[in-house]
Amino acid sequence: FSNLSLAEPLARAVAEMGYETMTPIQEQAIPVVLEGKDVMGGAQTGTGKTAAFTLPILQRILPFASSSPSPAKHPVRALILAPTRELAMQVYESVKTYSKHTPIRAMCAFGGVDIKPQIAELKKGVEILVATPGRLLDHVENKSVSFNSVQALVLDEADRMLDMGFVPDVTRILNMLPAQRQSLLFSATFSEEIKKLADTMLKSPVLIEVA
Ligand code: AMP
Repeated sequence: FSNLSLAEPLARAVAEMGYETMTPIQEQAIPVVLEGKDVMGGAQTGTGKTAAFTLPILQRILPFASSSPSPAKHPVRALILAPTRELAMQVYESVKTYSKHTPIRAMCAFGGVDIKPQIAELKKGVEILVATPGRLLDHVENKSVSFNSVQALVLDEADRMLDMGFVPDVTRILNMLPAQRQSLLFSATFSEEIKKLADTMLKSPVLIEVA
């Protein structure tokens, strides 16, 4: 990790986790994401893929971070979509861990629970929003979220999104995001349908696959 020249607050968080060496997906994906390129990543849970996208996204957002309490200073800059509440929570916990020494705010929005506390949290401003697609669209309908400042999108476990029938929701969300953005897609498998989805959301992606 010391070869990456991560910003001090991120390097410190990684050190506190006790990680010594990067996993293969981290070694391959982090430098590419830091450069701002799109990625199509083939990796399963347990490979360290969450840190592989979270750390470089945090590094790219850090120059915009603000300690001001003003919500306007904390627009959504990165959107991470996950298929289930459990996965969204796991990703959110990682984002919280790696960002703990920065003023970057993160939140998790999933369905099946009262939407009001989520609306209140979104109003206060949050740079990294981890969400399940259906609940995110509820927030769009509610006008509780704006995508104007989104610079990075992550689609995590895209194959499960497909299996769960989320492609129409994801497509709707993609169409609302700024065209000028970085996009990352992670999936354990690459079916024809995943490739089709990748074609619609990625620009000249770097393909990274780990066993
Ligand atoms: P993930 O595949 O992202 O769900 O991560 C699987 C587990 O590996 C998590 O518990 C991480 O905390 C852990 N982990 C991620 N990166 C590393 C690393 N470089 N060294 C050791 N453990 C790691």
